[in-house]
Amino acid sequence: MGAGFTEASAGAADRAAGSGSMGGGPVGPVAVSIVGSTGSIGRQAVEVIEANRDRFRVVALAGRSSWKLLAEQAARLDPEMVAVVESDAAAELRGCLPGGVKVTSGVGALCEAAAIGETVLNAIVGFAGLEVSVAALSEGRRLALANKESLVAGGDVVRKALAAGGEIVPVDSEHCAIHQCLRSATGAGEVERLVITTSGGPFRGKAHSELSRVSVDEALRHPTWRMGPKITIDSSTLMNKGLEVIEAHELFGVDYDRIEVILHPQSVVHSMVELVDGASMAQLSMPDMRLPIGYALGFPSRLPVPFGAIDWSVMERLDFGVVDRETFRCLAVAEAAGRAGGLVPAWMNAANEVAVEAFLQERVGWLDIAAIVEETVDRCEGGVAQEVEEVVEADRRAREVAAEIARAYEAPSRGGRWR
Ligand code: NAD
Ligand code: MG
Repeated sequence: MGAGFTEASAGAADRAAGSGSMGGGPVGPVAVSIVGSTGSIGRQAVEVIEANRDRFRVVALAGRSSWKLLAEQAARLDPEMVAVVESDAAAELRGCLPGGVKVTSGVGALCEAAAIGETVLNAIVGFAGLEVSVAALSEGRRLALANKESLVAGGDVVRKALAAGGEIVPVDSEHCAIHQCLRSATGAGEVERLVITTSGGPFRGKAHSELSRVSVDEALRHPTWRMGPKITIDSSTLMNKGLEVIEAHELFGVDYDRIEVILHPQSVVHSMVELVDGASMAQLSMPDMRLPIGYALGFPSRLPVPFGAIDWSVMERLDFGVVDRETFRCLAVAEAAGRAGGLVPAWMNAANEVAVEAFLQERVGWLDIAAIVEETVDRCEGGVAQEVEEVVEADRRAREVAAEIARAYEAPSRGGRWR
């Protein structure tokens, strides 16, 4: 894929960078569009850029509705464009930003913001990020990708968009770790397998019977990472790890049989690559997303400002273990959807977004998330997408089916089964 890390080309990281708009290394600050600048990843990206002003200049900021935060960020970063999906928020922004800053709104606004960056950070959450990824790659840009849902739901169309000469550098910490580890695999066929780590989330070690009545607050209490609500719930169910297995398959072209998931409660070893001679390469740092964000923006150069450096004098132990796929069914459901391919992962992703939203609104229980996803995937209408519109249509259909299934799981007050 654009990251350049198919099995055949593993290790060609620096050459891979040459395929994008950054070929030959940056001359002056790189123009960056931050799409989703108001979220957890977006705000941390602003910190990284403010710490490296000589290397990056922000040309566009984009979010869904948080106009006050967008206005504050614009005052600090002086972009050419601020894009916001909701028109009311755009009206507020026009009222408070200097006249020279273009304010755009509506469905196409985020793609417009993406198109003007040399590097585009896609930090949107969920399926809404797919069109941004495709827009950035179609313009031949570097896509610093946090939005894993793009690759899960639209792997085929994202791969097609890469033909325009763009490239993907992953922001997701596990994939960023693998990207770094693969730089030491210089020959074809040297990679034996990818080993993705998971903290196990807040319910690591719990039995199925203990998880029937967990609250939203408990599920939102992640042990090692502070993130937006959707990915935090996905981390509690291990759906996040399932999405990441598919993301790894799409990014690095490694078969599902050779992608393993292991427990690692401390979130210090971010993932590993095992080579054919038995050596394992790992990337370690404290859990701090500013490191992978900076890596993806700066690649192939390393940024001089450290984030997540380890203090070994207090690091007493690193633990590893086996994942419980029976209790955390979402992982197995996602892996099966990835193996099935075509539009099955798009259905699985849509169903998960519907189920997580229903859980966050306390309409269904935590265990119902896996059940809703599984039942929706069972009703998948199949197909393979050539164009984004086909993925959008599959996503819409899957949401309809998932919403209908979710209604059956709703609380007794609504005639459902929960509580
Ligand atoms: P978040 O909820 O904190 O922020 C989401 C951003 O997306 C906001 O800017 C919001 O305005 C925008 N947005 C939400 N819905 C939108 C819509 N329908 N249309 C347009 N914009 C919309 O999420 P986050 O935690 O920053 O995660 C962003 C992405 O990065 C996700 O795909 C997540 O899986 C991935 N990721 C996050 C982390 C992390 O530490 N937060 C780590 C790895 C990967
Ligand atoms: Mg991750």
